[in-house]
Amino acid sequence: MSIQDLWFDPSLCFIGGGWVDPASGQTLDLIDPSNGELICQVARGDADDIDQAVSAAQAALGGPWGRMTAAERGRVLAKIGQLVQSNAEVLARLEALDVGKPLTQARADVAALARYLEFYGGAADKLHGQTIPYLDGYTVYTLREPHGVTGHIIPWNYPMQIIGRSVGAALAMGNAAVLKPAEEACLTALAFADLARQAGLPEGVLNVVTGLGAEAGAALSGHAGVNHVSFTGSVGVGKLVQRQASENIVPVTLELGGKSPQLVFDDADIDAALPFLVNAGVQNAGQTCSASSRILVQRGVFDEVLDRMAARYGDLQVGPALQDLDVGPLISARQKKTVENFLSQGASLEKAAEGQIIADAPAGGHYVAPTLFAGVSPNHVLAQDEIFGPVQVVIPFDDEAEALSIANGTKFGLVASVWSSNGARQMRLAKALRSGQVFLNNYGAGGGVELPFGGTGQSGHGREKGFEALYGFSTLKTVAALHG
Ligand code: NAD
Repeated sequence: MSIQDLWFDPSLCFIGGGWVDPASGQTLDLIDPSNGELICQVARGDADDIDQAVSAAQAALGGPWGRMTAAERGRVLAKIGQLVQSNAEVLARLEALDVGKPLTQARADVAALARYLEFYGGAADKLHGQTIPYLDGYTVYTLREPHGVTGHIIPWNYPMQIIGRSVGAALAMGNAAVLKPAEEACLTALAFADLARQAGLPEGVLNVVTGLGAEAGAALSGHAGVNHVSFTGSVGVGKLVQRQASENIVPVTLELGGKSPQLVFDDADIDAALPFLVNAGVQNAGQTCSASSRILVQRGVFDEVLDRMAARYGDLQVGPALQDLDVGPLISARQKKTVENFLSQGASLEKAAEGQIIADAPAGGHYVAPTLFAGVSPNHVLAQDEIFGPVQVVIPFDDEAEALSIANGTKFGLVASVWSSNGARQMRLAKALRSGQVFLNNYGAGGGVELPFGGTGQSGHGREKGFEALYGFSTLKTVAALHG
């Protein structure tokens, strides 16, 4: 895939079913993380474009989209999913180029996007209201209705997957969406909009405005015509978005960061755990909200787990996305600097192992060697803050109570896992861990489109993915009829 092969012009916004110039007439540079070179220019949309996009979405709600049955909406989503599948390789190469993720991981993201559309297409007509037994002479029932216009602000790390889980669920419920992708990676969002158009999604139902967070993003989260905001990104911006949306009293879903632990007990199957312990930390170069950046290991198996993780780290190869090695570059020079700052704060810690940046990796690429730290205190900054890079810390513990206290001892609560053959312990910890998801003897369950996902604490609130997301992307109306 070369940028010349694109079938749409990335310097335009997609509004009202067509490609339009941004109101400012300005563009932003999109940089290839693998070599630091310019990929292309994208539109620098701003508040004026967001206004246009919100108006187009409102108009769509009053048009054919608003009158479609749930089953018809589902069929359109399924058709978009089929087009995603038939363009899978192009989308994967575009995502790899733009995000810097190894091609195999980008291919998995395309498959997830197609699966989200299949799932939400099928679910569109499955969410029913209820009848409520009430006073004599009344019939009371509830209706599930769309919010109206939904705003979706997404990050650069998994654009396609996040579009699938948030825009997919919103459209299934009959909303019309305005999507603001991240300025660092937005090509698959634009490609997706065009595939949706080709699949017959009516004009205005999905609008994509690229641009800066402080301009297009802030305009979207604070727009009076937006009825629900779904934000995926950092804690700091999440707070801003919630504040901006509160001006209009609209619901907000916040999918934020994490410091997710895996707890490995003496009675765990270490062979089964090992690939998960390392992969969950270095996948997408650690730029994953649900990255497992803390590995908590009981003292009886601490040395064995550490040695075996270190051996795996020694084998990790880092290089350009399209070479499809274990780990790609970080998204930007800024992100690289952030991760290097964290690494320098670990200078006095025991570095257990490092991966290898390949010798001919382009000098302008944003590469960082994956790094494993051993015996880290639970209060150390590397064990508390989200690094968003390929860095893991291994922390020893004595017993279950200490493991739980360390695991719950950060401001986050997104994902956790327990590796143990003791069923009672698994059940106790599944309840006691403060986390949106808990995995027992696995980590991540392969992504799980069907599995509700979201955080507690500073990892956010609200749930996306699975059937549960449909509740968040709809509102409930109670109808009470007095008929005697
Ligand atoms: P970010 O918060 O800087 O940016 C995310 C999005 O918000 C981008 O589209 C950006 O343009 C926009 N934005 C920036 N400023 C804004 C403003 N003032 N108003 C409105 N929008 C604004 O985050 P990032 O650095 O791009 O992404 C990394 C973070 O995202 C990490 O903390 C990671 O954990 C989190 N994340 C969470 C999940 C999840 O599902 N929980 C998934 C992926 C990433």
